[in-house]
Amino acid sequence: MKLQMVDLLTQYDSIKDEIDTAVLNVIRSGQYILGKEVKELEEKIAHNLGCKYAVGCASGTDALQVAMMALDIGPGDEVITTSFTFVATAETIALLGAKPVYVDIREADFNIDPEKIEAAITDKTKAIIPVHLYGHPAPMDGIMAIANKHNIPVIEDTAQAIGAGYNGEKAGTIGTFGCISFFPSKNLGAYGDGGMITMNDESLATKSRMIVNHGSRERYKHSEIGVNSRLDTIQAAILLVKLKYLDMWNDNRRKAAARYSELLRDIPVTTPEELRGNYHIYHQYTIRCKKRDELSNHLKEKNIPHAIYYPIPLHLQEAYAYLGYSNGDLPVTEKLTDEVLSLPMHPELTEEQQQYITDAVKEFYNN
Ligand SMILES: *Cc1c(COP(=O)(O)O)cnc(C)c1O
Repeated sequence: MKLQMVDLLTQYDSIKDEIDTAVLNVIRSGQYILGKEVKELEEKIAHNLGCKYAVGCASGTDALQVAMMALDIGPGDEVITTSFTFVATAETIALLGAKPVYVDIREADFNIDPEKIEAAITDKTKAIIPVHLYGHPAPMDGIMAIANKHNIPVIEDTAQAIGAGYNGEKAGTIGTFGCISFFPSKNLGAYGDGGMITMNDESLATKSRMIVNHGSRERYKHSEIGVNSRLDTIQAAILLVKLKYLDMWNDNRRKAAARYSELLRDIPVTTPEELRGNYHIYHQYTIRCKKRDELSNHLKEKNIPHAIYYPIPLHLQEAYAYLGYSNGDLPVTEKLTDEVLSLPMHPELTEEQQQYITDAVKEFYNN
């Protein structure tokens, strides 16, 4: 059986004519930088998520960087985040000269634990970056309560969670900023890199828009130090086509997740939960299991793709050793790092494939 973690080509086949036309239209328009598709996508995403502004940029990583630049975060500042995430979250903090401060996570949803945030706040804390990991929203009520009490902006890393919901609001619209990634394998993926920053504050929207384009509003007048991080017009055209299908694709992922959980019911693994009030969009379907590495080897032998997100937490990464963290500092993060395993998850996943995958997991635990 042919299996993949994500099946981008099957998805492309299902929308090929629309995509090909959209790409050719941009090429034939001659408007390659900040063409009309970029603005159209920004408006549609803002409308779709229910926020006032959206600014395209070159990647999810840049979205995080630009959001922090718009808040003037730099040397001497601290930014609170999670260590149980993709490196981009902390990398951008460090790149700007600020210090990542890691707070432990909750077992229930793998997200930052609001009860542990307050102890990490100092007078240098300039932002809190929760990550909606695997597509399950972080506990925003608790996070916003602490942030508001201390007057600290919240930047939601929404890279894995476009379309996810939290008590009737969309992930990425609750904090000061939301940062979306259009990396090809994300729930709304381009055919290259892309990202978007969402916000409700007009002056932060204006500033972000200037930063992504060399700090300039008017050509050759630069009132901010910026970067070159515009969303590519061809990618915007592709995303405009794909955005129409996002809800359906997220729904397919949810159905596939429910099927996995049913198929794994009598197997000694912990299946992911959707906590009350949340709308999980299953960027990943991540189980927790005993003998994780042995299970991984078993799946490898059977040619079943799977992944460990993430095998080393950020506080124990070599590049961040200078921060002075060591093993034992974030016990929940470290425990879950040894237990998680993500199974293939994408909107095109079939029941037959899931049966095959879960049979292999079952076989491992029955032996
Ligand atoms: C993918 C991802 C990013 C970075 O997005 P890119 O578009 O690849 O730069 C940031 N944070 C998280 C949690 C991600 O999963």
